[in-house]
Amino acid sequence: MNVPFVALNRQYEAYKAEIDAAFQRVAASGMYVLGEEVELFEKELATLCEVPHVLTVANGTDALILAMKALGVGEGDEVITAPNSFIASAGSAVSIGAKPVFADIREDHNIDPARIEKAITKKTKAIMPVHLTGRPAPMDEINQIAKAHELFVIEDAAQAVGAKYKGRPVGGLGDAGCFSLHPLKNLFVMGDGGFITLKDSALYEKIKIMRNHGLRNRDECSFWAMNSRLDALHAAMGRVKLKYFDAITARFRTIADMYREGLEDIVDVPRDTKDEFAVYHNFVICVDQRDALKEFLAQRGIGTAIHYPIPLHLQDAAKDLGYKRGDFPVTERLNQRQLSLPIYPELKQEEIEAVIGAIREFHQQKANLKHGTGN
Ligand SMILES: *Cc1c(COP(=O)(O)O)cnc(C)c1O
Repeated sequence: MNVPFVALNRQYEAYKAEIDAAFQRVAASGMYVLGEEVELFEKELATLCEVPHVLTVANGTDALILAMKALGVGEGDEVITAPNSFIASAGSAVSIGAKPVFADIREDHNIDPARIEKAITKKTKAIMPVHLTGRPAPMDEINQIAKAHELFVIEDAAQAVGAKYKGRPVGGLGDAGCFSLHPLKNLFVMGDGGFITLKDSALYEKIKIMRNHGLRNRDECSFWAMNSRLDALHAAMGRVKLKYFDAITARFRTIADMYREGLEDIVDVPRDTKDEFAVYHNFVICVDQRDALKEFLAQRGIGTAIHYPIPLHLQDAAKDLGYKRGDFPVTERLNQRQLSLPIYPELKQEEIEAVIGAIREFHQQKANLKHGTGN
């Protein structure tokens, strides 16, 4: 049986009639960038994230850039974030002239508040926790540190639409929440897209202009800015997905439960703590012979991935930041052991069982070898 790591077309098949109708509605409307469809989508996202304001933008990276810029983060400022994230967490800071400063993670793959505290300097302007794999970062501790040092908190929630921390949705826990609607995220459209969640009305008004060339109306420009708008087609598709989003999230969590039950006695599996409602954008197990297991699964037609093969501080792009191997021991240790299993709402029961069965088979073979009962 083939179990692809991603199969985005399956979600189109699942909602085909409604998505097709939504696309036709937009085509007929004659309004293709921003407009009513986008405004309705923003309202619905605000309800989901329990925040007063949402602004859609062109992608998740722009969401981070716009949030930081609007908060006044820029040239020479330091932004503390996690070293085991996607490139954009650090890249967004660099692109506005700021410097990403990394703080190591905990065993749950999220940034360690104790390490954040140690990374603070006079230049630190913001903390950017990443809700990695769809698991909320420890926001109470992070907000406390931010308050004590007068820092902004910009949530990188690109992997975590719908995740909750102590019962509250991520995105509304810091000064701004930045999300991605890219096809590889847990709420996705058929292209690039993103959004920003905000509590502050002045910040909302500022970014609303900022994402549209700094134009406060058709002809008058308040300040130089950029073009980062969402297309109506994406908004219309996102609105279809939002109708089913509770079920989508529930399915991610059910699959996570099945993996956990099937594997917890032989590999390290992620678990929610009582404060966390994770959405399992990725289901990351940790194993000793990760590369051998990945290859073993590939031979059986089971796709897996590594998030991420190279930690941010060891990327060529990060050379100027002055880090070296050994600087973030937890990140580097987990980096060798982590493996993401296929997880998406359309994954079938027999596919989940095939993944579990194959990992157990691998484990059994290793055990037999160790005890001399194999060949
Ligand atoms: C995907 C992602 C981003 C960037 O989102 P894009 O829409 O691809 O620009 C930022 N941070 C994290 C943690 C991500 O996973």
